[in-house]
Amino acid sequence: MKIFMDGNNNCIFCKIIAGELPSEKVYEDEKMLAFRDINPAAPAHIVCVPKIHIDSLNEVNANHENTGYVSHILEKIPGIAETLGLSNGYRVIINIGEDGGQTVKHLHFHMLGGKKLPVKLG
Ligand code: AMP
Ligand code: ZN
Repeated sequence: MKIFMDGNNNCIFCKIIAGELPSEKVYEDEKMLAFRDINPAAPAHIVCVPKIHIDSLNEVNANHENTGYVSHILEKIPGIAETLGLSNGYRVIINIGEDGGQTVKHLHFHMLGGKKLPVKLG
C-alpha cells in the first residue's frame, strides 16, 4: 500500500497536480484538482483528484487520515457541476482495480454529463 503525501514519481495525476504535465483545470483548491479528461466519454467529462497520492478507493481509510480528501471532493462536485451547467444531472464514477477498469492508479472521480447517459452500468 502506497500513500505519498508529496506525490508518486510515476503517477501522471501527481504530475498534473505538481504542474509537471498540462491539464485543462476547471476547479482547484488546497485539497483537490478537477480537470477535463483527455479522452472524454461525454460532452462534459471531468476528473477530480485528491492532492495526495492514494492508489484507489481501497486505500481510503480513517487510519490513513485520507477520508477527508474523499468527503471534500464529494462536497465540491455539485458546485463544479453547477459551474459546468449540468443542471439536468450527471454521473459520478470511481473505477477501482483491474476489473473496475482503473487505468490510472491515483484515486479519481469521473464526472460525466452534458447528454443523456446510457442507463447500462456494467
Ligand atoms: P480510469 O480508467 O478510471 O483510471 O480513468 C483514467 C482517466 O484519465 C481516463 O478517462 C483517461 O482518459 C484520463 N487521462 C489519462 N491521462 C490524462 C491526462 N494527461 N489528462 C487528462 N486526463 C487523462
Ligand atoms: Zn498520484
